[in-house]
Amino acid sequence: MAMNDSVNILNSAYLAVEYVDSFLPDNPLQQPFKNAWNYMLDNYTKFQIATWGSLIVHEASYFLLCVPGFVFQFIPYMQKYKIQQDKPETWEKQWKCFKTLLFNHFFIQLPLICGTYYFTEYFNIPYEWEEMPRWYVLLAQCFGCAVIEDAWHYFLHRLLHHKRIYKYIHKVHHEFVSPFGMQAEYAHPLETLILGTGFFIGIVVFCNHVILLWAWVICRLMETIDVHSGYDVPLNPLHLVPFYAGARFHDFHHMNFIGNYASTFTWWDRIFGTDSQFIAYKEKEKKQQLIMKKKAN
Ligand SMILES: [Zn+2]
Ligand SMILES: [Zn+2]
Repeated sequence: MAMNDSVNILNSAYLAVEYVDSFLPDNPLQQPFKNAWNYMLDNYTKFQIATWGSLIVHEASYFLLCVPGFVFQFIPYMQKYKIQQDKPETWEKQWKCFKTLLFNHFFIQLPLICGTYYFTEYFNIPYEWEEMPRWYVLLAQCFGCAVIEDAWHYFLHRLLHHKRIYKYIHKVHHEFVSPFGMQAEYAHPLETLILGTGFFIGIVVFCNHVILLWAWVICRLMETIDVHSGYDVPLNPLHLVPFYAGARFHDFHHMNFIGNYASTFTWWDRIFGTDSQFIAYKEKEKKQQLIMKKKAN
């Protein structure tokens, strides 16, 4: 009965979004995107698209999404949004991070990306334009992938912090107490595999077109680079996502080592009370700001 109810709710939500969509003006980028997609299908094999296409999407999105946070360090106006003001970025740290990233991307992630083609063949995942899901379906699928990844991340990340194993794997990711965007995937190769598994579960559950792989890669990178950026910038559209954790939440994890283990949402830390130190810290910060304001007046 409960299952039937949720299917009915999902169907109604789908129909409602479809109805609203019929009133929206046509997306001007739809036709160029369709042309580009069909050009790609006509000129490259499925293996090339799944392997090299996925590699390009990952590398281009990763480094492009890192650009704003990287540029902020040179803009004095942006410094008021830096979360850990007393720990500015250094060239030495950023260069070290960049070198490790390249190693991880090409020696750990690329071999995994090579499996994409076989995954899509095994599950008969289509590549054709005509079978591509609509934008709102894609968005809902990405949200579903994020919910699954977040749960995986919370429990496995918490386990990686166990005092018996912390120093062997997760210590690498915590090398930088004040994070910066590029550091999002700076981790021990084993961590890339362990926490990265959470990324694939959602795909196995929801994937009905190869575009979901790329859309989900971009969404996940947007989230992880944002929470590692070290800056809490106003009007960040990611904060429109319900229960979104954000940069202050994960920045605190790097500063404090204890608590705030989830990647995207706040609910697991709330349920298990692992955000208590973060809440206490925020309260203390608020009080200090009030005292400062009073003094200034
Ligand atoms: Zn950690
Ligand atoms: Zn982190």
